[in-house]
Parts: sequence; structure tokens; C-alpha cells
Amino acid sequence: GVPEVPARPIAERRKSRQIHVGPVAVGGDAPVSVQSMTTTRTSDIGATLQQIAELTAAGCQIVRVACPTQDDADALATIARKSQIPVIADIHFQPKYVFAAIEAGCAAVRVNPGNIKKFDDQVKEIAKAAKDHGTPIRIGVNAGSLDKRLLQKYGKATPEALVESALWEASLFEEHDFRDIKISVKHNDPVVMIEAYRQLAEACDYPLHLGVTEAGPAFQGTIKSAVAFGALLSQGIGDTIRVSLSAPPVEEVKVGLQILQSLGLRQRGLEIVSCPSCGRAQVDVYKLAEEVTAGLTGMEVPLRVAVMGCVVNGPGEAREADLGVASGNGKGQIFVKGEVIKTVPESKIVETLIEEAMKLAERMEQEGETA
Ligand code: SF4
Repeated sequence: GVPEVPARPIAERRKSRQIHVGPVAVGGDAPVSVQSMTTTRTSDIGATLQQIAELTAAGCQIVRVACPTQDDADALATIARKSQIPVIADIHFQPKYVFAAIEAGCAAVRVNPGNIKKFDDQVKEIAKAAKDHGTPIRIGVNAGSLDKRLLQKYGKATPEALVESALWEASLFEEHDFRDIKISVKHNDPVVMIEAYRQLAEACDYPLHLGVTEAGPAFQGTIKSAVAFGALLSQGIGDTIRVSLSAPPVEEVKVGLQILQSLGLRQRGLEIVSCPSCGRAQVDVYKLAEEVTAGLTGMEVPLRVAVMGCVVNGPGEAREADLGVASGNGKGQIFVKGEVIKTVPESKIVETLIEEAMKLAERMEQEGETA
């Protein structure tokens, strides 16, 4: 489960409406969630699900996949069904893929108002389809692809221009009584980005997705995101975050979680994460995850425990977890930080995990004391 937010948060949270991206609540009093985006071709279902498994094991709560072609759109249904975390389809140019993503059962759809030209006359149908399926829409404004009209009006992608684009797009949906919306106004300059989100936070009550675009290589991107998100979250602004790095997406999740922990918005408690399961799975991952969750509930150790569906990729995919199990053929491989330490019969998985979790917690405590 998602760890609890501590009793005394860094700031009073801005009051936003709450939406649901699949089972993950965003906005209102929901904990700030961490998301990332896959770098695989979405049409390569196996590779995409494997990357989603890695992201899930690293603590990612929502994942976005690109959808630039019909082959990608065709893959969405399987990916959405098999992913353990909610999947958002990212649509830039083609309204027809918005419908495809909604039909495919994606947990949300991201649209970029600056890029979708023929979009306006189709808002009514999109709003209807989204409402019928209970699918929220993220209006994702990007400095790099701002509406030409607004670029002319403001000269460049100023905070005012980004906010006007977002609110105008939202108003098109509001006309059709659709408010299941979250908004992002991303810029590569944290100063502009912070100001844009501040203005947006004042102007509406939609939940906000924070992001700095083209944040750059890991070092620079980490700092830019930490500074920008820190400034906003410390004022109670922001409901879900995505760190963008020119690095593997698992790194984005690690940085995002660390930012939330640094601000006291995320306590490290016991967290059970499981792989989305795929053709390789040799066990019922969901059932095993439930058993492990039931077995470990009540332990107060700050560990991330991964439950993976196969011994081939499981340990590797769960490298960022502290501890885990990969199961198959009636056995469970127990691994620590991606290294298999022993193999036990299925009936001993839960008790072995508890033992190893206690050992790890002890070790972490000792390391903390000597550090
Ligand atoms: Fe990855 Fe194995 Fe789970 Fe498939 S079953 S998602 S390969 S761990």
C-alpha cells in the first residue's frame, strides 16, 4: 500500500478536486503520487510490460506510455490490462488515439492542446467517451509546443501563456460539463515553471501534475526537479509528480520518491510492490502478492518488498527493491537488492520474507548508527 503522510506536513495543501487515475487518487487529501514514462516502443508489449514491472518494483504509482502510431494504440488494451499500476496514454497529435485509449481501458489520457489541431471540434465527443468510461484527462501544456496563437500573443512561453493555454483547454471541456481533469504546465526553466504553477494553482481547483520538461541528464535534471518541486510542494502546490531525466525511467522514480521523502510527504514504511505479470509468469502474481501483503502487514520496517512472477526476469527487474520473491514451479527465489540469496518451497515464501526483512531492518539500523 501507499505509506501514510506524516501528521505535520510541510505546508497546508492547496485544496484541489480529487480525481482517480485507476485506483490511485490524485488531488484532495490523497498523498502526492510518483509517476514516470516508459521509453520502450509501446507496440512492443513485452518490452513495455517489462519496463513497467521495473518501474512498479521501484515504487512508481502511475505510468505513462507514448502512443504515436496505430500499432501503439492497438497495444494499449493489453498493456492497460496487464500493468499492475494505472496506465496513462500520451496522445500528442491524433484525436482518434484519444478514443482508442479510452476504449482500451487506459486509466487516463494525456492530451497536449498545443499539438492537437483538429481537437476543438471533437472535445464534445472526447468528453462524452471519457465520461462514459470514467476516464480522466490530463491537459498537458508544454512550453516547447505551445499554441501558436498564444506564442504570438505573449512572444514566448511565459507563465501567463502556459496558464492561459491550460485554462482555455479546460474551459472547452467544462462547456460539456466535464471536470475530471488534471493539469500540467511544464517548462524547462524551473523559475518559469514555478511561477506558472503558482498562477495556475490560484486560478483553478484542478489537481496539478508537476514536471520540468527536458530537465536534462541525471545530475542536472535531479537538481532542477528537486528545486522546482520543492518550491511548489512546500507551498502545498502539486498532487502528482514526474521527474524527467535523460536516464532510465527507474531513476526518475527514485528521484521522485526521494524528493517526497525529503519534504516529509512520504514516509518510508513497508511497501509491497508486484510485477504486472506477463506471458512468463509461472504463478498467480496477484494472489501471491496478496499473501505476502497479509503475511508482512504489521511489520514496521521501511522496506520495499517486490513480488515478481518469474525467476527469469523477476530479480533483475526488481533491483531497486530491498527484498523480494520471484516465483515459479512451486518454488520462490528470495532475493535481496536483485541478488538471489536462496530458493524455498512456495509454502515457506512468506516466513522467509519476514525473516529476511527483519535481518535487513537490523542491518539498516546498525548502518544508521555507525554512519
Ligand atoms: Fe517481469 Fe517475469 Fe513479471 Fe513478466 S512475470 S512482468 S518477466 S517479473
